[in-house]
Amino acid sequence: TSYGFKSVGQNEKQGLVNEVFHRVAKRYDVMNDLMSAGLHRLWKDGMVAWLNPPKRPGWKVLDVAGGTGDISFRIIEASHRQAHATVLDINGSMLAVGKERAEKRGFAANTDFVEANAEELPFDDETFDAYTIAFGIRNVPRIDVALSEAYRVLKPGGRFLCLEFSEVDMPLLDKVYEEWSFKAIPRIGQMVTGDGEPYSYLVESIRKFPNQPNFAAMISHAGFDRVTYRNYSGGIAALHSGWKL
Ligand code: SAM
Repeated sequence: TSYGFKSVGQNEKQGLVNEVFHRVAKRYDVMNDLMSAGLHRLWKDGMVAWLNPPKRPGWKVLDVAGGTGDISFRIIEASHRQAHATVLDINGSMLAVGKERAEKRGFAANTDFVEANAEELPFDDETFDAYTIAFGIRNVPRIDVALSEAYRVLKPGGRFLCLEFSEVDMPLLDKVYEEWSFKAIPRIGQMVTGDGEPYSYLVESIRKFPNQPNFAAMISHAGFDRVTYRNYSGGIAALHSGWKL
């Protein structure tokens, strides 16, 4: 596309991504904590605070690339267990871990799990009040397609929120972050899962992902209004917001 995102072979990319998450599904949650030094928890809490789900039944969120349910469970809790979350992921292994967690934590009645592709959502137009995607859109081969699907399934007045790694905008922190991501993350991957290479791929995909203003432009291009973003931890992660008006 013209947004500075180089598209590698798309099927090849999705294949690599699927392999990574099949392999790490069972250890995914501990990996997250190790690799972000626990920061992903704060970023996710920030995302759900910005969403501020209503505390009434009937409100529905679609959590795309929802993996093991981290975002969905936070939203349900924030809604005082009123919201309903559909956790959608292309990877059955991640969803299986999510389902187990939902049952253990008493969220089963508020959730359902759907194995599908973000580029081809198996829902009617105007189904959901909110669409969330956390650390997922970077892995989707055709981001513009995923964004128009997000727009399509949202009700008018619906909210789009995307949490993703982004461009660090602090001197010094960017150096530390480079060291951390290119050296430590593949090494941690190697130690915990026995293979560092998939993690090198994931780190590389962070570098290729459009920066904050470029990604905001893509969201607007998909039809969303009032597109804004906020940075977390100096831009290591960014949260983009848009409305279907
Ligand atoms: N949202 C969760 C979180 O923040 O903990 C999981 C994020 S995990 C880094 C990325 C997820 O994206 C994986 O579970 C992967 O299977 C999923 N994924 C990758 N490509 C996808 C696609 N095309 N459609 C839907 N999900 C996809």
